[in-house]
Amino acid sequence: MLVAGNWKMFKGPGETLAFCRALRAVPRPADVDVVVCPPYVSLAEAVQVLAGTEVGVFAQNCHWADDGAFTGEVSASMLLELGVYGTIVGHSERRQLFGETDEAVGRRARAALDAGLDVIACVGETEAERDAGETEAVLRRQVSALEHDDNLVIAYEPVWAIGTGRTATPEMAQEAHEIVKSVLDVPLLYGGSVKPENARELLAQPAVDGALVGGASLDLPSFEAICRAGSRS
Ligand code: PEP
Repeated sequence: MLVAGNWKMFKGPGETLAFCRALRAVPRPADVDVVVCPPYVSLAEAVQVLAGTEVGVFAQNCHWADDGAFTGEVSASMLLELGVYGTIVGHSERRQLFGETDEAVGRRARAALDAGLDVIACVGETEAERDAGETEAVLRRQVSALEHDDNLVIAYEPVWAIGTGRTATPEMAQEAHEIVKSVLDVPLLYGGSVKPENARELLAQPAVDGALVGGASLDLPSFEAICRAGSRS
């Protein structure tokens, strides 16, 4: 079971230090892998404070080139130099607000994996796509842009559930996860308004191997509660 907190554009270095010091001090279930994904500017603080713990520090994106004229981008080798363990790629906010294509997401994932980072690649349909009955086709297309790798995890995040307070029902999550797993059999996280109140039921679905948590990961007690909900012990 993996619970990853995507902090998006929240928590600068100062807040990150305070959060990670507090996270370090709390007991975590042994059967739940915990990851935090701070913004680039806060990665060094997170790595420093969480060194020697089992908590992984991931970036929120990673470019496919090793270096070059790519203003605003960061490469896998730069992240590795900092002590970062992995990266998210293809978050729906990147796809929707910054025009990332399936092809770009595939390239980002491949390069990060080849460089030695773990990858959480996000997929998910919009509300219009779900209403049009296109969920399966969208998921198949997005997942087909990725290649199997032992260090790849996919997060199914229905776009209509992200930051909206609406969650997929456990049955919807299970159904989508079965589609994703039929294309690429890798561990799968559910993401989209996961909260302490709904985490246990979502994480109990057989095809759900963890959660990618946005808003609720910014508050330590709620993040801890979701981590505990992922424990099978
Ligand atoms: C996310 O950002 O990946 C996410 C799932 O956000 P939220 O939990 O806030 O819906």
